[in-house]
Amino acid sequence: MIQEEMLQYQQLDGELNRIERELRKNESFVKRRQYKAASQECEETINRLDARALELKNQLAQAQQTVQNITEIIEDHSREIGSLEDEDELNYMNKKLNEQLAELNNVEKEIKRILRDGEDISKAFDEASAKLPRLVAGFRKCDEEFNKAAAEVKPRVNEIRTRQAELKKSIDENIFNIYKKVADGGLYPVFVPLEDGTRCGGCRMEMPKAQVDAQFAGKTYMRCEHCGRIIFKKE
Ligand SMILES: [Zn+2]
Repeated sequence: MIQEEMLQYQQLDGELNRIERELRKNESFVKRRQYKAASQECEETINRLDARALELKNQLAQAQQTVQNITEIIEDHSREIGSLEDEDELNYMNKKLNEQLAELNNVEKEIKRILRDGEDISKAFDEASAKLPRLVAGFRKCDEEFNKAAAEVKPRVNEIRTRQAELKKSIDENIFNIYKKVADGGLYPVFVPLEDGTRCGGCRMEMPKAQVDAQFAGKTYMRCEHCGRIIFKKE
């Protein structure tokens, strides 16, 4: 037989579990989590856009520098062409000039692309920046509501914890450690009665009587091989 205090302790844990489950089902708890995820995502978007804007700024500066370099080369070429009379040399310089003009055309296209991207980013940035305060406000409101709901059950939770602390003083340490280990693994209840002499009171698994008798020989409890709960004999 498992101590009555242990079973009471377990029952109180059951009530705590129920309270926690109810709180988690609370609309403000669910919405709070959604708001939090959404605002985190929004912040990440803003950071990403910031980084992209910086990248574009650097690209633009680089492209503008390239434009300046090409312009200087074109000016040089134009000056040289003005002083040339030989047709071959003229053709050669014209070819070089055209190459530079084509290059300039490409860079100008690149600049347009950067500016377009910049506009898109700026728009996305404005949208995200306008959305963030709404999400943060939504989170705060739900957080407040949830805290209120949590505060309502707090007295009962405290009462349970105080009672459990009292009970624990008279619970066999070995049994309590087994309980904690199984309970922390997510099983509830941990201690279940043997039903009809052969069945686990937790998962209802039927066991051969000889096996049950062998397991209980000299012991007050046995472990269910199927669900891992601790089975005790009712007296
Ligand atoms: Zn079982």
